[in-house]
Amino acid sequence: MKIISDINELRDHLRGQNRTSFVPTMGNLHEGHLSLMRLARQYGDPVVASIFVNRLQFGPNEDFDSYPRTMQADIDKLEQEGVYILFAPTEKDLYPQPQEYRVDPPQQLGDILEGEFRPGFFKGVCTVVLKLFSCVQPRVAVFGKKDYQQLMIVRQMASQFALPVEIVPAETIRAEDGLALSSRNIYLSSSERAEAPALQRQLSAMREQVLGLKEKTVSALMDIEAQALTQMQTRGWEPDYIAIRQQGDLAKPTQANLDSGQALVIVTAAKLGKTRLIDNLEI
Ligand code: AMP
Repeated sequence: MKIISDINELRDHLRGQNRTSFVPTMGNLHEGHLSLMRLARQYGDPVVASIFVNRLQFGPNEDFDSYPRTMQADIDKLEQEGVYILFAPTEKDLYPQPQEYRVDPPQQLGDILEGEFRPGFFKGVCTVVLKLFSCVQPRVAVFGKKDYQQLMIVRQMASQFALPVEIVPAETIRAEDGLALSSRNIYLSSSERAEAPALQRQLSAMREQVLGLKEKTVSALMDIEAQALTQMQTRGWEPDYIAIRQQGDLAKPTQANLDSGQALVIVTAAKLGKTRLIDNLEI
């Protein structure tokens, strides 16, 4: 595997390739990331991964400085997956001047849910993803459904800018007890780690409740959300949101859309101690 930090050197190596598959990450790789590498390989060749902890998407009180950086272990894992190039730019490589041009996603998608609780997050994500796409020029890029809203926003960005890249979604990889794998899981104490799967169990219970409704109404869904919120709070969690939304646009379901059978998804972000976990479940 070639490890490249310089944009021009990356371009030299990829010149003439038109089937590149790309997986952007922030490192501290786990099985979830590696499943994306495997999926990428099915869609194209060569596979390029990137590792870059993107300052632009972190809020002032978030964990940019303490975000786990495990480059050597990550390199070993990517080598085993047969990744052709690891693009691992420094901040100077990717942002040689302050990145003043940014991509601002539409409010109705970028400022809700994650965007409400992490202002500017999706602006930072879109900006780095567009820049990484410009560096790698992939035909396909793989994103995890674990970050459901991010996947949707990146997809729409690619579509609205007519970027010549296909965005491929990858299923969420979980630990045996149901906890979605995440780089941030290492922040959990052992008792928090034991409690953490309760979030996914809560989503599964909500899904059952929704499927069991005789009549799907907006108010019935709101009751299910409110109950779930209280239950998680009682268990000691601090949920930012637990929301049943429309799969197509993550908006609150309207009665007309419920009546016409619009697909739903439950999305959540909740703090357990100092660790903020996110997860989702399609209905
Ligand atoms: P990150 O390094 O957290 O920025 O994630 C890089 C990519 O891996 C994103 O597309 C994530 O959605 C995806 N990802 C993170 N966790 C998982 C998981 N448990 N299963 C599948 N994909 C994941």
